[in-house]
Amino acid sequence: MPPTAPLRAARGMRDLLPDALSTWREVLGAAREEALRYGYREIEVPMLEQAALVERGVGGDTDVVQKEIYRIRPTAEGGSTPLVLRPEATAGVVRAYFEGRLNQGPQPVRLWTAGPMFRHDRPQAGRFRQFQQFDVEVIGDAGPAFDAEVIELTWGWYRALGLGGLSLELNSIGDAACRPAYLRRLRDYFRPHAVRLGPDDRHRLETNPLRLLDSKDPVLVELREAAPRITDALCPECAAHWAQLRALLDAAGIPYRLNPHLVRGLDYYTRTVWEYQHQSLGGAQNSLGGGGRYDGLAETLGYPPTPAVGFAGGLDRTVLMLDEQRGGPRPAAPPALLLLPDGDGLDLAAAGLARAARQVTSVAADYSRRSLRAKMRGAGGSGARWAAIFDDGEARRRVVQLRDLDSGEQREVGWDELPALLMTSPGGPA
Ligand code: AMP
Repeated sequence: MPPTAPLRAARGMRDLLPDALSTWREVLGAAREEALRYGYREIEVPMLEQAALVERGVGGDTDVVQKEIYRIRPTAEGGSTPLVLRPEATAGVVRAYFEGRLNQGPQPVRLWTAGPMFRHDRPQAGRFRQFQQFDVEVIGDAGPAFDAEVIELTWGWYRALGLGGLSLELNSIGDAACRPAYLRRLRDYFRPHAVRLGPDDRHRLETNPLRLLDSKDPVLVELREAAPRITDALCPECAAHWAQLRALLDAAGIPYRLNPHLVRGLDYYTRTVWEYQHQSLGGAQNSLGGGGRYDGLAETLGYPPTPAVGFAGGLDRTVLMLDEQRGGPRPAAPPALLLLPDGDGLDLAAAGLARAARQVTSVAADYSRRSLRAKMRGAGGSGARWAAIFDDGEARRRVVQLRDLDSGEQREVGWDELPALLMTSPGGPA
């Protein structure tokens, strides 16, 4: 057989190795803590959904649905319902809210979830085909105080992590009452310039002209400066919502920047939209997370009209930015105690002693056949707190030499005393 190249992860997929995972755990832990502090309850929804849920929820004309959906082929037995890997969680959470009858209890319902999402886009720095999001949703109330609460919660999450360089961009994109007239004005404004646009943007001009406002095309970046602004064209209800939201954010002391070109990429948003951008995330990938109100989504999915607001924060980019700010991830915590048997035939003794010490702290035994010198060298660089060394004679006397790897101090300790001693040592597990 000819040698084959080693198999690698699929394109756009990546592993999170132990050292990298320490920041992940921290970021997810802070998300959970913040959500609980605001009384949000955790929910899990499947990674596979019916294609129709995503197509109708996210919107058939969005890039996500047009280009980025992973479609699941029917199985050999012939499953007939087309399924997709979820590209985002909101549509699934709204479906679960109704299917699980959460709509029949006290309203609104505050929920959070976190997990992997899938989009088949061209991979690049900060863009992966499997990535994770922290999601927060408030379903069942139209009041602007809930928009402000979700913003405050998510702003608090980034602040708890100590992440700097963040800006909060805010806009309102109106609703079914005022947006259609605005879209007509927007088309009228851009149409005379259609020849200067690429084919995708010419198509968007007819199907989804809001997206022209956040295009990266320099022609559009220039043209949009003089485009009509939706915040000048809001109906009285949307204008009141918009004013109250800003008053609430001002009172909370949350700094934001009004960005008339922020429209977000998913079709279901109404009124409030916002995005957290990070200065050192380049170009199209500068969004760390975003959210908005989606009062029309439930109806689009075939459920009674139900107002809601939510947020999706990318964990991958948040971890990336935190690690960059700190000069790299903090290494994963090593075991506190290393057991270093010196010589052959000591596996049983080492395993037993490790088992006893594990009652009070984390322990790894070095069962390798390396010399004690090599084992000590490894222990010294491991970050462990202690090493317990013993040879055949010491095993017979049931003692170890317990070495403090920071100070280098060493003393003989009986096996039976070891757990209690580890427990009460300064810097120990007690
Ligand atoms: P969206 O659901 O498109 O509003 O995205 C919300 C957040 O998810 C973004 O701000 C990113 O942090 C993250 N995100 C979206 N797509 C990707 C991707 N392909 N790779 C990594 N993170 C992503």
